[in-house]
Amino acid sequence: MSDYYEILGIERNATKDEIKSAFRKKARQYHPDVNKAPDAEEKFKELGRAYETLMDDNKRATYDRYGEDGLRDAGFSTSGPFDGGFGDLNDIFESFFGGFGGFGFSDRATNPNGPQNGADLRLNLEIEFEEAVFGVKKEVKITHLETCDECGGTGAEKGSTPETCPTCGGTGRVQQVTNTPLGSFRQITTCPKCNGTGKINSHPCKKCKGDGRIETERTLTINIPAGVNTGSKIGLSQEGNCGKNGGRAGDLIVVIYVKEHKEFKRDGFDLYSALDISFPQAALGDTVTVNTIDGPKELTVPAGIEQDKVLTLKGAGVPYLGNNTKRGNHHFVVKLKPAQNLTQEEKQLYKKLYEINCNKKPSSKFIDKMKNVLHN
Ligand SMILES: [Zn+2]
Ligand SMILES: [Zn+2]
Repeated sequence: MSDYYEILGIERNATKDEIKSAFRKKARQYHPDVNKAPDAEEKFKELGRAYETLMDDNKRATYDRYGEDGLRDAGFSTSGPFDGGFGDLNDIFESFFGGFGGFGFSDRATNPNGPQNGADLRLNLEIEFEEAVFGVKKEVKITHLETCDECGGTGAEKGSTPETCPTCGGTGRVQQVTNTPLGSFRQITTCPKCNGTGKINSHPCKKCKGDGRIETERTLTINIPAGVNTGSKIGLSQEGNCGKNGGRAGDLIVVIYVKEHKEFKRDGFDLYSALDISFPQAALGDTVTVNTIDGPKELTVPAGIEQDKVLTLKGAGVPYLGNNTKRGNHHFVVKLKPAQNLTQEEKQLYKKLYEINCNKKPSSKFIDKMKNVLHN
């Protein structure tokens, strides 16, 4: 089990800035171009996994509560950005810290003034067992970036236009040569003058402080279809962060967590529950009332039923996701109730039964012993 906080060498309550700077430091230390130790590559990949998880609020919350396995269960990818290989250290820093559209690893920016797609957002949503079975409409509050209505996304005050950065000529990148004990490195880094935007905004819009986007809280109604389960994902198109320079907005991905039911267990679209049966019911058979997701229903218990035998109510399970005319089944697992705390009358009846079954009278000592056996 890897501890992401330990890997980055940070406290559990570390801020994003602390995570970023810890990652920068460690990535420099362990990048396989620099560090030739045999485990450097693995350490570097681990760093990527830790960074990616802890920089994403939803992933981090899931990781804090349920660990790496929890991430997997929730449908998050636990592979890091370098698991399929790692690039040049400078490219990595650029794509991580270049300042374009959040911290996605996928949106590597080449032209800082070209369209930048907005980042997808994730929302973990916990729902009741019954809500997952029958579907539900949920109102959720989310915060995402929207195009600033004051400046229309330019980031510049009305009447002013950002100028092309003289340092980088609008590319957002500059070349540097750094001398290190391992030789000199030609680095392409984010332009320090314009922070990679390629523009100098001398009159930034007051509302968005020059970013062109503002954090906005929205209430969305999410239609959760019948049959979802923990890990099911619902995509809301373009409800993620808005893009820049005409780029497409990201999506909002809602990841469902279903609370446990106190009585039913779910496996796919089938439900399971225990069915307590007394010895006489097991011997003679009975019709019993059982709880189902639709409410009480009658279930026939055949005579001579055994412990752990499964009785099934067809179609009383969970509706199939995407095809609600079909439903799973509800299975009842027979549990024979131990004959505890027998009354005098019950004891007499069991004695009688014993005499018939075994062709002899039980000793009183045996009755006590039998009670113990039946307990188990
Ligand atoms: Zn510049
Ligand atoms: Zn603005």
